[in-house]
Amino acid sequence: MMKIDKDEFNKYVEDNVFNTISEYNLIEDGDNIMIGVSGGKDSILTLNMLHSYQQKSDINFTLKAVCIDEGIAGYRNDGIKSAKENTKKLGIPLIVHSFKDTWGYDLDEISDLYKSTCMPCGVYRRYLLNKISDEQGADKIATGHNLDDEIQSFLMTFARNDQNKFSKFGPKLKRIHPKMTPRIKPLWQLPEKDVGLWCVINDIEIHDMECPYSQTSLRADIKMFLNMLEEEKKGIKQNIFNSFKKTFTQKQSEVELCMCEICNQATAQSPCNACRMTDEIKKMLS
Ligand code: SF4
Ligand SMILES: [Zn+2]
Repeated sequence: MMKIDKDEFNKYVEDNVFNTISEYNLIEDGDNIMIGVSGGKDSILTLNMLHSYQQKSDINFTLKAVCIDEGIAGYRNDGIKSAKENTKKLGIPLIVHSFKDTWGYDLDEISDLYKSTCMPCGVYRRYLLNKISDEQGADKIATGHNLDDEIQSFLMTFARNDQNKFSKFGPKLKRIHPKMTPRIKPLWQLPEKDVGLWCVINDIEIHDMECPYSQTSLRADIKMFLNMLEEEKKGIKQNIFNSFKKTFTQKQSEVELCMCEICNQATAQSPCNACRMTDEIKKMLS
């Protein structure tokens, strides 16, 4: 196995992430940034990179972290432990909030109700992440999306014939409503294998289990397909990403938002997705 120089590799990772931050103006003076932390490698690297950027750059901004507990037995608790340990080490305040606190049930209790458990999980997680960030006065939510995640999402839009989702691509999304906190993706140009390597090389304690429901998703199939292709044809993922970057524009579709009549959160259509789904779930559970 090729020996990797730790300092050189860390510099490469930091340069990659810092370049994305400055090239796309992800962080501005006075920003309050909320980092979505699952405890996995991507979110822990994001946490460390933003902490280091805070110390090394001239930009003044604050950092907080939020961890959503979906309620997945044998899986999520380790993630929360990793989120707590890593935020404590860096002195970043952490908020943990669960599906159960909000809706009265864990993801495990509703996992069989949909073809893919990722569907209700995604709706609820996005909802909570935004709600908590808004309550905390965050200007931006930083997520751990890496280069592989972005090309998976890109291909998923074709597989689903849903190119409307193009507006969610790119390292920085615009604020489209005062109560919708926009996302930034500092790891946007960093391949997933380098995120993993960074954790190993630096002996970072992370939660590296696969979610027991992940196999039910289209994303998992596309990820496997891309990894298979990459084994055969090295560099194919980077090529897909580069062509995506060439065609990608930061243009976001204009959507008129209103307030949800049930929960009073911003939504394209009232009741919001989360409230509509909750109603559906309650009927299915009764
Ligand atoms: S893999 Fe699916 S069910 Fe598991 S945490 Fe991710 S979105 Fe939720
Ligand atoms: Zn609602």
